[in-house]
Amino acid sequence: MIEHSLPPGATIDHLWQLRVAGEIRVRAVDWVAPLPQGLVADYSTPDGDVFVSTVLVPLVCVRCPSTRSHIVQGRWGDELTLICIRCGTDWTGRWAGIGDDDGAASRALLKQIIVESGFTPGTGVGDTIGDIRDEFHAGLWTPSRIDQRLADALPLTVQGDHGGTGPEAIAQCMVSTLPDWRLRSLRFSEALARTIGLLRAPGAGTDTETLDVLDSVMGLARTIAALEPGDLRHEPEAQIES
Ligand SMILES: [Zn+2]
Repeated sequence: MIEHSLPPGATIDHLWQLRVAGEIRVRAVDWVAPLPQGLVADYSTPDGDVFVSTVLVPLVCVRCPSTRSHIVQGRWGDELTLICIRCGTDWTGRWAGIGDDDGAASRALLKQIIVESGFTPGTGVGDTIGDIRDEFHAGLWTPSRIDQRLADALPLTVQGDHGGTGPEAIAQCMVSTLPDWRLRSLRFSEALARTIGLLRAPGAGTDTETLDVLDSVMGLARTIAALEPGDLRHEPEAQIES
């Protein structure tokens, strides 16, 4: 296993969030079987006590179950956290690797993704969400009626009397539009998923950055909710392949 070094200029407490194009495939154990009786004693056969067969499997959302465009999150040395941009579910990436009971493969993969991404170490979650909002105002993406339905639900559940600012409230809104996820905009879904990730991160939740991000994403949702029908896009975006 290659030992990766923290990128220059990055700190170990920086929370990384990177959206992965396509699937993340990891090598997992498919099956383990003892050698048939008699083979071990016969020294003409391959040396060993058992057969171990491995297979490449995609990391799959534990709720919806999408395998694509997940957001990868964590601090340097953490296990890989994944956030599904379709349904907002977050989970720890673990797979049946060989000798990976302690999550070593998951930690190594997060380091590798961080290093290979070449992403600017100083970029925070709020910067990315700010970019998504700026792209919207610049007309680079146009919300759909499903985005609007999702945005309509958000202020009620996240800022209403019952919901608080919990990540699960945002995820529930994403789940409610899951049958129409193909008609949602990738960038709006991404902004919500990144916000969920930040709210779920240990140590987040009360600091100024988290509140700013929540403010910013809810501001975007309110703007989308207030759009006239004629300002919404008519064609499916379909950027997230099935
Ligand atoms: Zn999902």
